[in-house]
Amino acid sequence: MRLVLICLFFSCVASAQDIPARWDELTASDWPKALERSNRTCILPIGILEKHGPHAPIGSDLIHVREWAARATKKEYAVVFPDYFYGQINEARHEPGTFSLPSHLVTELLDSTCSEIARNGFNKIVIINGHGGNPNLLRYFIQTQLERRRNYAVYFFDPAPDSVYSAQLNKLRKSDPATDQHAGERETSTLLYLRPDLVKMDSARNESGINLKRLSIPNVYTGIWWYANYPNHYAGEGAAATKELGQFITEHTIDILVKALKAIKADTKTLELQNEFFDKVKNGK
Ligand SMILES: [Zn+2]
Repeated sequence: MRLVLICLFFSCVASAQDIPARWDELTASDWPKALERSNRTCILPIGILEKHGPHAPIGSDLIHVREWAARATKKEYAVVFPDYFYGQINEARHEPGTFSLPSHLVTELLDSTCSEIARNGFNKIVIINGHGGNPNLLRYFIQTQLERRRNYAVYFFDPAPDSVYSAQLNKLRKSDPATDQHAGERETSTLLYLRPDLVKMDSARNESGINLKRLSIPNVYTGIWWYANYPNHYAGEGAAATKELGQFITEHTIDILVKALKAIKADTKTLELQNEFFDKVKNGK
């Protein structure tokens, strides 16, 4: 009995120190501890609402980033901003379920969200992105951080190509890596691993995810290129997906995200250089 009481006491102490990672699950009184444990680091996971072939959920990208953040912060604590699904998705506006805000609003909302996160005490904001149509927007957004002085830094988790990982991945997958892009084997596999209840594998062959190559002007980029290639907003072979492939990809992603989080939490250089830069800008603004 005495032993049980001691165990209860220790588990009580442990749970008192254990605070949730999600911003919306913390209490206001948890805030000082959350800031300290995260080293004032907040993850902003960005997904999108768009069709994912005929078989996968509209919120697939959101599900991915939410799960990555939840799993990574169990290993390396940071606060995780709640669901955010406002990004660049004009190319899927012809499909049901797409939520596409005007571009000026998308940029303004992202900037204001970062400012509000910072006003709550965070000085490191880590964007993790699950949507293939967002990186151009996000890199531009990061560049605009130098438009005015800020007391926080925004980091974009942007994994570099890894030839060893890619070779292992290509051994595991059955479809052509060159065409496995959106709701194809890779993305369907990770969903099968994370949320199998939401994937309708029987429907994966109901539409074609083949590249139709309907527009080709050498060395020229157009806004309609994606629709020209993939009018079904589906690129690849979802039917080839397996849970095992999904586990392999997810564990690799979590692993590099944890490493990036550790590095960002320890980083003082980015803000130092940002401040040095603004000290040299005329008027210091
Ligand atoms: Zn996706």
